[in-house]
Amino acid sequence: MHESLPFEDSLASISTGDLPSLLEVEQHLHEAYGHYRYDDDGAVADYIPALAQADPSLFGASIVGAAGNVADVGDAAHPFSIQSVSKPFVFALVCDALGHEQVLDKVGVNGTGLPFNSVMAIELNQDRTMNPMVNAGAIATTSLIPGRSGEEKWEFLVDGLSRFAGRRLEVDDAVYASETATNLRNQGIAHLLDGYGRLYFDPDEATDVYTRQCSLLVTAHDLAVMGATLADGGINPITGEQAIEPRHCKRVLAVLATAGLYERSGEWLYEIGIPGKSGVSGGMVAIAPGKGAIGTFSPPLDDAGNSVRGQRLVKYLSERLGLNMFASKPIGLASPPAGTARRLA
Ligand code: GLN
Repeated sequence: MHESLPFEDSLASISTGDLPSLLEVEQHLHEAYGHYRYDDDGAVADYIPALAQADPSLFGASIVGAAGNVADVGDAAHPFSIQSVSKPFVFALVCDALGHEQVLDKVGVNGTGLPFNSVMAIELNQDRTMNPMVNAGAIATTSLIPGRSGEEKWEFLVDGLSRFAGRRLEVDDAVYASETATNLRNQGIAHLLDGYGRLYFDPDEATDVYTRQCSLLVTAHDLAVMGATLADGGINPITGEQAIEPRHCKRVLAVLATAGLYERSGEWLYEIGIPGKSGVSGGMVAIAPGKGAIGTFSPPLDDAGNSVRGQRLVKYLSERLGLNMFASKPIGLASPPAGTARRLA
């Protein structure tokens, strides 16, 4: 993450109200892809056996603007299981169904500062679950999905995530079976939460729905469309369909900023300045509110479980496309409106 970039920070990269033209976006996307295409740092996750078979050379990225412009590069159409990148979208659906106050109360929104599958995060915090972007809070969030049975919850969830993607999403059966056979830790987390009164459905069934949600197949392009829907007040910019009510988007993005990259979320925000979410199969989404989103796919991960090439590409594009939400230009450098005194350097 911290190696120097092939360019300097500059005022040219200050965040503006819109994405640059599609032509410029495409140029920067292709340049970024070229810069990182052959980077070979990181390792493919293997704690879910089916994921260990992923080809580490796969690399794709996509940018979808809030106005519906699309730019894809490399393996942007290659399917992979969404894994943790599902978390913000399921959280969004639960906010939409129950109201954001309920999720604040029942799950929490503070960063844990600990790895995605931490049990210590539950033990060390009085509220037990703290954040929907790590496994404990995510399983609790999934347990809040409307429906009396696991099947009803599943239908609600897959319908909602499909609205974000703009197409019907399907489960990767091999990944689902592989994770189901090995997810004792997540089962343990669900039971622990149940013991603390912080799970809102049967723990085994909640873990099963969560495991299925993680096994949904998406592409980097899909992730960009899903992210752009959160950047566009809940309206999918490709299909025009409303995935969630506009007022929830800002809260989903705020929670993403606190924990989207787990214990590396602070460093991510410091360098990149927009909320993002990573997943263990190598997917990432980064969202620039009002502008659009970047979806990436590259299986090799750093030691916190975040895609290495994905982080580098998003950092490059955040600078080049002026996405950093915290960037400002000194007023003295802007051309003064007629008759206004300016503070000049
Ligand atoms: N299904 C994975 C798990 O719960 C998701 C984790 C991730 O993508 N970081 O372990």
